[in-house]
Amino acid sequence: MIEPGQHDVVALTEQLREATTAARHAYRDTGRLIRLLTVLSSPAAPDELLGRALAGLSEAFDADIVCVVSEVDDRFLVTAASGLAEGDTSHVEGWALGGAAATAVRDRRPVAWDIESGARDVPPSLAGLGIRSGAFVPMSASTEQSDELLVLYRSTGETFSGTDLHVLASVAQRLRIAAEDRERAVAIERLAESGHLLAPHLDSGSLVETAAELLKRLTMSDDAWVVGISDGLAYGRAHHGTAPVAVDAIGERPVAELRAWNTAARGEAWTGFAEPWDGSVPRTVLCVPVLRDSTPIALLYASRNGPRPFGVEVTEIAMIFASYFSTALENAGLYRELRHRATQDPLTGLANRELAVQRLDHVLTAGSEPLTGLLFCDLDGFKAVNDRLGHESGDELLQQVADRLQNALRLKDLLARFGGDEFVAVLGEIRSLDDVTEVGRRLIDALREPFELGGERVIVSASIGGVLGARGATTAGTMLRDADAAMYVAKSRGPGVVEVFDDAASNRSLDRLSIRSELLRALDRNEFEVLYQPIVDLESGRPTAFEALLRWTHPERGAIPPDVFIPLAEETGEIVPIGTWVVEQACQQLATWQRMPGCDDLKISVNLSAAQLWHGDTADKVVSLMHEAGVAPGDVWLEVTERSHAGDDVTAVTKRLRANGVHFALDDFGSSYSNLAYLKQFPAECLKIDRSFISGVAREGTDRSIVRAILAMAESLNLDVVAEGVEQSDQRDSLIALGCRLGQGYFFAPAMAGSEATALLRERVAVPRPSTAVSGLRLASRR
Ligand code: C2E
Ligand code: CA
Ligand code: CA
Repeated sequence: MIEPGQHDVVALTEQLREATTAARHAYRDTGRLIRLLTVLSSPAAPDELLGRALAGLSEAFDADIVCVVSEVDDRFLVTAASGLAEGDTSHVEGWALGGAAATAVRDRRPVAWDIESGARDVPPSLAGLGIRSGAFVPMSASTEQSDELLVLYRSTGETFSGTDLHVLASVAQRLRIAAEDRERAVAIERLAESGHLLAPHLDSGSLVETAAELLKRLTMSDDAWVVGISDGLAYGRAHHGTAPVAVDAIGERPVAELRAWNTAARGEAWTGFAEPWDGSVPRTVLCVPVLRDSTPIALLYASRNGPRPFGVEVTEIAMIFASYFSTALENAGLYRELRHRATQDPLTGLANRELAVQRLDHVLTAGSEPLTGLLFCDLDGFKAVNDRLGHESGDELLQQVADRLQNALRLKDLLARFGGDEFVAVLGEIRSLDDVTEVGRRLIDALREPFELGGERVIVSASIGGVLGARGATTAGTMLRDADAAMYVAKSRGPGVVEVFDDAASNRSLDRLSIRSELLRALDRNEFEVLYQPIVDLESGRPTAFEALLRWTHPERGAIPPDVFIPLAEETGEIVPIGTWVVEQACQQLATWQRMPGCDDLKISVNLSAAQLWHGDTADKVVSLMHEAGVAPGDVWLEVTERSHAGDDVTAVTKRLRANGVHFALDDFGSSYSNLAYLKQFPAECLKIDRSFISGVAREGTDRSIVRAILAMAESLNLDVVAEGVEQSDQRDSLIALGCRLGQGYFFAPAMAGSEATALLRERVAVPRPSTAVSGLRLASRR
């Protein structure tokens, strides 16, 4: 007999049992789901992650097959699967859109399906598996995203419940987000590497090859192409990947035929299912333009053999990569230009100083003839023509002079322009000093006829100095200095005079000898002084730093320019103690300035010679001088030229100074073509653009394009830039327009004594700072 209340107990026990079972199931399901979610958040490659998640779903939901499908041209293609053979045709052929799947795509909601409904929602290749029910779950609720579905198939016949669908909907979304995150993380990581990997390629051939390889990795693709664009034609430049098509076998195609072209021309990326640029079999394709001044100069194509679409993140990353690539291409172009410049004078097409010196060096050391002649010509009256008729006529006159001088020389001679109105001829087949004089006269004769300049007749002549050099006994440097000195003598007797040095040359070397010995004593005799030239924020004119420049006032000879005595001090090694003294002076001066109100972030720049970088003590000495003066090493910039390292490894001194926080700037940047290659190995954080480029920066032309390219490169390498030798307001304006922030030059201030510099600081800095200036001072704020 059942007592009252006992019924309730039975019912309750039953309910409890059910609840426990449900809880156990829930617990089991929750456990599976948690495992699934753990999979989603564990570090794994995107493909691997998807595979593991699909396997997890298959277990948690008792599904025989779990896959992700993409809708492509009215068919579903499987892009990832668990429980499906890899070669299954549903990967490539897919199946026609069925009723339930179509509803899921259209309405963006999960839909359950079973065999009774009659709809053919199973790929034909799976027909034999006895599949009886399925679930179609959109990977994204937003119509902006691609049409991807998560599909689960069961053969048990148990249909997917509302709760199942609910859970699956959230899992699918998480799965998509996790896969995208993962894809983005991998891509960003690879992107971060790719900048470094592209930058070292200074020749564009190896650059495009590397770009194709990196693009393939970056976009997780099967193939990648770099396609050049020129004159409305697209042509393959590099290919990396599995496609059997050889790049050069493709030839050219009109860009208008490319499906991605219209988008690329707008500067945007294109993705979709199409044939890549080469017209081969359709694949999932991504195309991003490589832009220069908003115009595509190349296209980057990536393709995946399967229909896995390119996500938004990968597309964005490919766009960033394209801009890296564009900068790298520009650098390669800059390198070519600088290399060309390194041996050619752009105005006249003659050899330049570098090439002439190389030639002279060669004939004096390894040439076949015992004697060599050198002529140094400086035009008389050129400046007057330039001032009266203008810059352009001046340029034209130089070109005409170059032609005439060239025609007066023989094939064995090399004519070079050294800059301005200076020309130098290296003479072959010379037997005596008389031969040198004779060629010099021929050059003067060649200039006798008036020049025709824009309808005006103009007369110029030249003063020429000549010397004779003997193989194995004379150096290029000596010959150049002596010829230069002879030219000055000619000029004083001029115009139109040839002066040759024979014995006088040795007098001059004596002269240098005495200067050398006097240099040794100059430090003790207090004959040196350090001047300071401000480096300013171009827009506000506010000094952010000063460059220390050495001056020597000789008791009898007067001021001797650093261009003359520094090479001598370098030859004797005297530059080491002198250079240390400059650092000491400069640091003490900086410490004084930094105590002035508003000047605490002021920096100092000091020039360092090669000899100092090779001298073991320099680093310790310099750092201890900074400490003694009380300035932070991070406030000191050392300016070195690329010649300082002569192509060798970075010295121990450099490394040590850098490790102590001292910064390096590359001086006279661009004046030598190896600058760019050198940048790779030298820890410079700032480039000082050589003033030869600044003189022409206000006009459209090579100078300006080089400055533009240097700025772009510096930006990509995160380097500061200082423009040297800014002499005019239009140069400053152009530099600002090109994005250069810092400059130095007579337009702002010449080098001046410390006390004058102090006055300048009081006037320009100790007043409240303009806000624009503060944000621009990267040079001033780098630690
Ligand atoms: P630099 O390092 O390129 O220094 C800049 C030179 O350009 C300075 O010549 C400066 O007076 C000059 N300058 C500045 N603004 C303008 C401008 O607007 N137009 C023109 N045409 N020139 C401008 P400076 O003082 O005669 O020095 C010549 C070179 O001597 C320096 O070239 C540097 O290489 C070397 N030098 C000077 N002081 C030192 C030093 O203490 N140690 C070492 N190792 N070298 C030094
Ligand atoms: Ca300098
Ligand atoms: Ca310089």
